[in-house]
Amino acid sequence: MKFAQSGLFIVLFILFLLFVVYQIILDRSEPEYEEEIISERVDTVQIHQPALLYGFPADSFTVIESTIRRNQFLGEILSEYQVTDQEIHNLSIKSKRIYDVRKLEARKKYTLLCTRDSLPRAEYFIYEPNAIDFVVYKLKDSIEVSLNQRKIDTVNTAVAGIIETSLWVTMSDAGADPMLIHSLSEVFAWQVDFHRDLRVGDGFRVAIRREVRPDGSVRPGAQVLAAEFINQGRMYTAVRFVDPNGKAEYYDRDGESLQRMFLRAPLEFARVTSRFNPRRFHPVLRRRTAHLGTDYSARTGTPVLTVGNGTVTRAGTWGGYGRIVEIRHNSTYTTRYAHLSGFGRGVRVGSRVQQGQVIGYSGSSGLVNAPHLHYEFLKGGRQTDPRLLKLPPGRAVAESLRPQFELQRDEVVPVLDALVVPDIFEEPTRVVEADLRSSAS
Ligand SMILES: [Zn+2]
Repeated sequence: MKFAQSGLFIVLFILFLLFVVYQIILDRSEPEYEEEIISERVDTVQIHQPALLYGFPADSFTVIESTIRRNQFLGEILSEYQVTDQEIHNLSIKSKRIYDVRKLEARKKYTLLCTRDSLPRAEYFIYEPNAIDFVVYKLKDSIEVSLNQRKIDTVNTAVAGIIETSLWVTMSDAGADPMLIHSLSEVFAWQVDFHRDLRVGDGFRVAIRREVRPDGSVRPGAQVLAAEFINQGRMYTAVRFVDPNGKAEYYDRDGESLQRMFLRAPLEFARVTSRFNPRRFHPVLRRRTAHLGTDYSARTGTPVLTVGNGTVTRAGTWGGYGRIVEIRHNSTYTTRYAHLSGFGRGVRVGSRVQQGQVIGYSGSSGLVNAPHLHYEFLKGGRQTDPRLLKLPPGRAVAESLRPQFELQRDEVVPVLDALVVPDIFEEPTRVVEADLRSSAS
């Protein structure tokens, strides 16, 4: 009886163990989604990488890598590898015009390519003053010195996600460079106001190109190749098209320009604190007055950008507006930027400004109780709510460039299409990043 009982106990214990293991496996299998995404989309373009070292076939040399010690002279390094004093002397003279050997610094990396003899003789001395440049001192036959640059690799990546708290948090969770948010807000500047239109549940899919330095670090500022942004249920697509002159612009899938005459907002990152409202209670005057503009909360000194090209018609102090810049864009539209702490460089009455140019810095001049930017949009001389405007679109891809546009589009859009933006209700904040292809270019 006792034996049967302990037998039952063992069986139950084994079942319990199996259950635990099963749970662990279940837990592990959760990132399946990510793997699935990756396997679907990884364009495994394997680029044959010959074992080149600074452009030399590494396996035909004895390679010695080291760093320069304090107070160590080149002669000291080279004389160990059968380089004569005369050659070292010639080298120091020859190097002067290209990269003087006396400029070699301690702790910097150098590489010696030596013959594969039992007594290796240095044929090349290569010095790296920084992560990009390298100097080749050729020692065999005749002495030659050349300054070279290592190639910067580009890596194409795609990122997708759902905004759960803020775009910044979502992007950071995706391991994306915060600069990418800036790039995205620029790409969609005409469609989505990144300060007032973003909502929890908005989704994005972005294909980006990153530049990777030879030391493996990523250069800040990824380039958006294509992007989709689902904002409040509406989807916007952007495809980067580089025309034969090398000029890059963003279009939608049909080749229509994403650019509009005006940016959606005069600040890069700020919160709207008061919208255009003809019947507002004024916080300072303590009575109902129309608020004929949009207020953005912004720390004093935040750069204020002109939303469009135009001519400065006012740059000075004007009653309750405090320091104000007024820009006339054309016969119909004018914009005003008030409560500034200062003006942008060269911004004075009569000067021309380009869309996105810094025309001033936010502050608290004039009739205010907290620093903010007061922005007005005037149509035909009357303040209007910029949210209600139907603004004229920019130019579409020229008919003659259509085939090139389609070629570039069809290369990158399928990448976006394959990225699944998870449903926020089923999969909260699941962000997927897939390395698509890395190539040396
Ligand atoms: Zn205001």
